Amino acid sequence: MSKRLQAMRGTRDILPGEVEAWQALEDAARRFSARYGYREIRTPYFEATELFARGVGESTDIVRKEMYTFPDRKGRSLTLRPEGTAGVARALIEAGLTQPGMLHRVYYLGPMFRYDRPQAGRYRQFHQWGAEVVGSASPWADVETILLLVDLLGTMGLAGLTVKLNSVGDATCRPAFQQRIREILGPRRAELCPDCQERLDKNPLRVFDCKVPSCQEIVHHLPPMLDSLCDACRAHLEQVKRGLEAAGARYEIDPGLVRGLDYYARTAYEVHHGQLGAQSALGGGGRYDGLIHLLGGADVPAVGFSMGVERTLLALEEEGKTPRPESAGVFLARGAGLGDEALRLARELRRRFQVYLDLEERGLGAQLKQADRLGARLAVILGEDEVKAGELTLKDLATGEQRRVPRAGIEEALAAALAAAGGTGR
Ligand code: AMP
Repeated sequence: MSKRLQAMRGTRDILPGEVEAWQALEDAARRFSARYGYREIRTPYFEATELFARGVGESTDIVRKEMYTFPDRKGRSLTLRPEGTAGVARALIEAGLTQPGMLHRVYYLGPMFRYDRPQAGRYRQFHQWGAEVVGSASPWADVETILLLVDLLGTMGLAGLTVKLNSVGDATCRPAFQQRIREILGPRRAELCPDCQERLDKNPLRVFDCKVPSCQEIVHHLPPMLDSLCDACRAHLEQVKRGLEAAGARYEIDPGLVRGLDYYARTAYEVHHGQLGAQSALGGGGRYDGLIHLLGGADVPAVGFSMGVERTLLALEEEGKTPRPESAGVFLARGAGLGDEALRLARELRRRFQVYLDLEERGLGAQLKQADRLGARLAVILGEDEVKAGELTLKDLATGEQRRVPRAGIEEALAAALAAAGGTGR
């Protein structure tokens, strides 16, 4: 017997019934991006492996062990995108859009792929909404992206949110700090996990990010990067804080926050949700001033974030705020032998309304049962009597009330009845 085919581990089907919440979140993400002046950018789901090796960083967990990398038929090494920023940067550079003085606000929405260990809130194919400001070094750009992220989450109704903010310094102040960490941890090297031993060589700041308890214990006693910031980085952080305060957004300074990617400079932030346990970060981002140049563009600064769609939906569920689809459907029920007329009428009504039509030859009673099952609000009944009188029967499926309306006035009658029932008719 052949084995039953199943979705691959770490991937999920989003079925009707669940997809409506996704659509509501995606719609809100698009709406808020547009309100903040961000325009959509769509980049390929796979890229040359080298883009991520360079653009995400050789020392990151993503590049070291989480990428879906494979040779294509010509032997080129390709990788399914594990995150969105590198592809966006590549696309803007390739289109000649990263000249000094240019400013772009872009957003993306779509699947990312990481060979992570699947658990609640962590998948191998997951979805992100992300936004980037390319071409501004202003702390206000950092503030703007943070506000965009928290406003989207807020508009979905989420309450238990915390914005964590930190600065990871820049090329002026970070190297000395990294050297200091190396000096402090060098003698304790053997106590660190194998990953951290490697991090110590490649990017010591990343030991702050380690989830292994014995490493966390050691990291806990390290001096924070915050205390070693140069004047420019310190001023930048102060202005980000001031901007958030001016806009009325709350935040916490988290000196231990470093983001997983190598290219961050100065601002790093995350938005956490109180009820999600270990995977509590809904999204995060920061400034990555060196990335565009590193990938072959001009030396233009940039800042951005990405938010996990699955995790945000989990948080909404925890708070009982999962968006529900509102049913506003019209069911067109027909008498025997009136199929042709019903098909014509349904097509006409579908210019404005969501209309269900029974596909089988069933009696009126069975059709109305179908209408209930589908959650339709209204039924339009087309029977022999109605045809003779040039009318239709309009039935409210919630109250059971029904009345006759002239065939020619059906659209207005439906619009009014749906508005009264709180639906839009779409
Ligand atoms: P990162 O790019 O790792 O900073 O991730 C940004 C956001 O994407 C996280 O805060 C999560 O909400 C989400 N995310 C990252 N990795 C996964 C994953 N494997 N499964 C589901 N969501 C993820």
